Amino acid sequence: MINIAKPCLEEAEIDAIASVLRSGVIAEGPRVAQFEQIFAEYIGVDHAVAVNSGTAALHVALMAHGIGKGDEVITSPFSFVATANSIVYTGAKPVFADIELDTYNISADQIHEKITNRTKAIMPVHLYGQAADMDAIMEIAQDHNILVIEDACQAHGATYNGKKVGSFGTGAFSFYPTKNITTSEGGMITTNDPNIASRARMLRAHGSKQRYLHEILGYNFRMTDISAAIGIVQMGKLEKLTEKRRQNAKKLSAGLKDTKDIILPVEKEKCSHVYHQYTVRTPHRDSLRDTLQEKGIGTGTYYPLCIHQQPLYKEMGYEASFPNSEKASREVLSLPVHPALSDDDINTIITAIIEWDRRLK
Ligand SMILES: *Cc1c(COP(=O)(O)O)cnc(C)c1O
Repeated sequence: MINIAKPCLEEAEIDAIASVLRSGVIAEGPRVAQFEQIFAEYIGVDHAVAVNSGTAALHVALMAHGIGKGDEVITSPFSFVATANSIVYTGAKPVFADIELDTYNISADQIHEKITNRTKAIMPVHLYGQAADMDAIMEIAQDHNILVIEDACQAHGATYNGKKVGSFGTGAFSFYPTKNITTSEGGMITTNDPNIASRARMLRAHGSKQRYLHEILGYNFRMTDISAAIGIVQMGKLEKLTEKRRQNAKKLSAGLKDTKDIILPVEKEKCSHVYHQYTVRTPHRDSLRDTLQEKGIGTGTYYPLCIHQQPLYKEMGYEASFPNSEKASREVLSLPVHPALSDDDINTIITAIIEWDRRLK
């Protein structure tokens, strides 16, 4: 079986956890601070604040900027539900803007149409590991004096014009096991604004800077030193893992370039794609998925329903139509691209897809 994802965990991570356990400092401690410092430096920002999930990172980022009831945040309906949920948690309203079909990222033109005097922020999602159209998005944000909070949960190390995502606005990352690096569960907020970093630190720890002095309503979103110890080791191999993902993507694209019925992922000129997912599109998606499954090749559908089509969001009254997002949700299929794939695995995937593509005609 070729799996769709596989975390790269080795002896070094096991040793790191064992040494945390031996130290007795197992909740938030010095490893969290060290992980934050390494991560901030890697992204190219002044501050990184670790939390216990990507969802918490998005939620804290919004709260740190004071976003709440009466505010609107424009985001993509073609994402994991956490993107929009984080906005709902604050009392603000997610306003969806449709995607572009070539990158699956939010369309700047569509954002324009959704701006009102209540719009407080744009939350672009760097889906599958490729940056959204950041020149256009930053220009809209500047023109309308609104914030940018990046959902970079799938895009550790992805760049746009040579600049890492998570450094354009306030960034939110996830370290869930399937992501490009993991801490088991975990998340990170990135910012250049010391006030936002300070508020984020308070929000993750019951609103306190000083122990047992609670200035604002906060949460327990703390990362443990056990997670941070894994994260520190993973950061040491992120560049190598990313390079492997990019090479695997290149091999898949070369092998699949003559297929008739499959649209391959595109890497935009200004972007360096980190291939959290290698996602193809075909109107015969379910047939391709089933054929690969029979051959022991795991695939993923991210996401079979758009956020506005989820029962929860329908209940909240969302019904507007987002044709590109809806088409993508019917047609996308992600193939294995993770760093643990061998050349044999990649050839198996390519051969199976070419056979399927031929049989289709
Ligand atoms: C994974 C993910 C999240 C949430 O991260 P968790 O760590 O699972 O809470 C949010 N947005 C996107 C786009 C994601 O892929």
